[in-house]
Amino acid sequence: MRYNSTRSREKMIPAHQAVITGLSPDGGLYVPEQLDVFIPVSGFTNASYQEIAEAVISSFFTDYDRETIRNCVNSAYNSRFDDPSIVPVRPFHDGAIMELWHGPTSAFKDLALTILPHLLTAAYKKDQREDTVAILTATSGDTGKAALSGFADVEHTDITVFYPSEGVSAVQKQQMVTSSGDNVSVIAVKGNFDDCQRMVKEACSSPEVKRSCNNVTISSANSINIGRLVPQVVYYFSTYASLVKQGEIKEGEEITFVVPTGNFGDIFAGYLAKKAGLPVKRLVIASNDNNVLTDFIRTGTYNRNRPFHETISPSMDILISSNLERLLYFASNGDCELVTSLMKQLSENGQYTIPAEMAEVITSEFSAYWCDQDMCRQEIRELFEQEHILIDPHTAVAVSALHQYRAEGHKEYAVALSTASPYKFAQDVLSAITANASQDPFEAMKQLEELSGVPIPAGLADLESLPVRFNTTIDKEDGISWIAGKMEELSHD
Ligand SMILES: *Cc1c(COP(=O)(O)O)cnc(C)c1O
Repeated sequence: MRYNSTRSREKMIPAHQAVITGLSPDGGLYVPEQLDVFIPVSGFTNASYQEIAEAVISSFFTDYDRETIRNCVNSAYNSRFDDPSIVPVRPFHDGAIMELWHGPTSAFKDLALTILPHLLTAAYKKDQREDTVAILTATSGDTGKAALSGFADVEHTDITVFYPSEGVSAVQKQQMVTSSGDNVSVIAVKGNFDDCQRMVKEACSSPEVKRSCNNVTISSANSINIGRLVPQVVYYFSTYASLVKQGEIKEGEEITFVVPTGNFGDIFAGYLAKKAGLPVKRLVIASNDNNVLTDFIRTGTYNRNRPFHETISPSMDILISSNLERLLYFASNGDCELVTSLMKQLSENGQYTIPAEMAEVITSEFSAYWCDQDMCRQEIRELFEQEHILIDPHTAVAVSALHQYRAEGHKEYAVALSTASPYKFAQDVLSAITANASQDPFEAMKQLEELSGVPIPAGLADLESLPVRFNTTIDKEDGISWIAGKMEELSHD
């Protein structure tokens, strides 16, 4: 299977080159040339997560040999997760909750970012390259730490993470600025996530940055990299298999997934799973107050000209969902010209409207709901009081969307994706549950542990005592020249 840009099919490249490149040089995102893989979920009922991962990733990345994929999968998942099933699935009153936060940084990003460095180094070996891959990553909080952890001290790579200086939680920040590894940098940017993301995208096509690169290739660990997206397809299959095994659903039964959505990567992986034959009825987009996607699904107009809200679910505080471009591509039957024009309108006017028939294609598979912060806190409190299940604010947004979806009469089995450990957002979770929550994040973790009896994940427990290694802050206007300087540093003959 080959890959092409969403904006042009002129150049087809194999998966490993798409993994190295990240973003296509024309600004588009790489997509599989056809969505004609079929992956039979029926064979997975007694398979391990690793076996399912090997099968799913091999189906998309056909230029990697099977043994290479197996090694990547084992390096990623054999020892770094604190639950043997990697992604445990817990039934609750309204279906099931898929727990995606048992990895080293307690966020769902670990599922992809523990394996991406291995896929990248394997790609590198395949092409016998000598240059340094400079990974530039924008983060709204969770990607940053997961990428830093995944790439730390990985040969031939260097990683820089840019985060919005006021836009991440105290725990997320502490996780990033205490990162280890000789090849890592962490930079606070005065701006929001979209500013950080724009900076990284611009750097990929900036002549100034290009001139500074001698034997340095820039790539990205953001979900625009196909090497992150494909590993996320795995847990849709593993969850389905696990629900069949648990007797929650019958084989072949269509189920719905409700996904707390920011950059549209996670839910787009669900779309790929559906196209690869997983019995999925609908994909439900769950948003917080930054509800640009809810409006898009309802009206066909994507409009980012609106206030940006900083919420208690910061990883979804996004007004430009990059991976939506991939859906636009498939929903228009691969109309690269249309996608290019829509993206141009987005960058020039901040909005675009899709043709009616395309909107119909999208709404036949996707629904969207949003909830404000009060509703979010209420979901956290109710689930804890009624079922003693502790969820983080991002997961609560999904649970709220699921309730709204049910209220419209949908009865099929549904799974809410739980994307972060409640301990990552301990103060907000705690204050949703009790009146006397500590304002100190680490104190709040301990209080939450006492209240719930659920142990604090190992990676978060010792965070408080780690020394801060990074304290650089830059203006967003200075991003490109900072990056150019960094590339000069990494350059070699
Ligand atoms: C990144 C993230 C999301 C959003 O996922 P996308 O793939 O960007 O849509 C939701 N919840 C948490 C906790 C995240 O870290």
